[in-house]
Amino acid sequence: MTHTRRWYFNRRPAKDIEADTLLLREEALPPAGAGQLLLRTIYLSMDATNRLWLGDWDLYMEPVRPGEAMKGFALCEVIESHNAAFPAGSLVAGLVPWSDYSLSDGSGLSLVPRIAGLKLAEAFGVLAIAGPTALVGLMEIGRPKAGDTVVVTAAAGAVGMLVGQIARIHGCRTIGIAGGPDKCRMLTESFGYDHAIDYKRDDVVARLRELAPDGVDVHFENVGGDMLDAGLTVMKNFGAVVICGLISTYNSAAGDRIPGPYMFRNLIMRRLRVEGFVILDYLDRYPQYQAQLAGWMLEGRLNYRLDITEGLENAVDALKMLYTGANNGKVLVRIGPES
Ligand code: NDP
Repeated sequence: MTHTRRWYFNRRPAKDIEADTLLLREEALPPAGAGQLLLRTIYLSMDATNRLWLGDWDLYMEPVRPGEAMKGFALCEVIESHNAAFPAGSLVAGLVPWSDYSLSDGSGLSLVPRIAGLKLAEAFGVLAIAGPTALVGLMEIGRPKAGDTVVVTAAAGAVGMLVGQIARIHGCRTIGIAGGPDKCRMLTESFGYDHAIDYKRDDVVARLRELAPDGVDVHFENVGGDMLDAGLTVMKNFGAVVICGLISTYNSAAGDRIPGPYMFRNLIMRRLRVEGFVILDYLDRYPQYQAQLAGWMLEGRLNYRLDITEGLENAVDALKMLYTGANNGKVLVRIGPES
């Protein structure tokens, strides 16, 4: 019998995650049965969407219900296997409970190969969610051409820092929008953005007009609200608006009326193509995306930053950083040692 700590969804928050939203409990784990795996969690990915799963909106997948274990995307080691598809000692990734150990029948899990030259945290942090999201959102939804001007919001975050660099690899001019001078410095010094706009200080529309006087070809939205309106205001005719995320709205309840976008009229005036996507719809092409991204990482063409919190007990604080902007890069929680 193994014991594990596990986070449970206790009470739906009114807005921001509260002290009693999630509770950590210690519990016994029964032995792995026929077809089952015993998993040890190594890294837990913190994703903005984790907060959405605690709300009462209609979503793109099943939410977590009060009383259930909180779940998240994680990298785990198989420490006992009764399932030939996932031998003991192998690394797997998938949706598992926020816990030290868990049992799984293998559904939804995929084997994770070690990539020579990349640390496990780098490979998981970039290739599991943020990298494929940036690649699919920009190249398959935004579809920029060389010479296009691409604008990215939450540009210093996990997805945003990669979108700008992928756009540059494809010959685009890039403008990143982020909060504060430190993040804006990172945009131009570390993540290859041509220009940075600090939305906490600058007049975003005025700066966009200055930096892109002929308009913007592709706007990659991670935030929503005022940022999306600023983007819609300065689009070029026939431009593309990629709706990747709307993090500024995720703390609201289903009954709340979320304002805007006020510049919706520009979908007609500028003949815009606006398209949302969910990366889960692209899982069958993951090997291809991951090979492309890993290649750029190994060639030193893709810079990235991880923000690693230690310990399962600190997972909720790590998640909250995404909502205050306290994170510097992709947020992971290290639950246990790599080997
Ligand atoms: P980030 O690492 O970008 O962290 C979130 C950032 O968002 C914060 O650092 C902060 O940056 C900014 N932010 C948070 N709240 C606000 C606010 N109210 N107003 C303005 N900025 C805010 O997270 P991810 O890269 O993991 O996620 C970015 C987006 O991508 C999210 O919207 C997420 O839902 C979406 N996503 C979508 C996927 C899909 O399949 N469509 C898959 C994965 C992610 P700053 O300090 O600059 O304000």
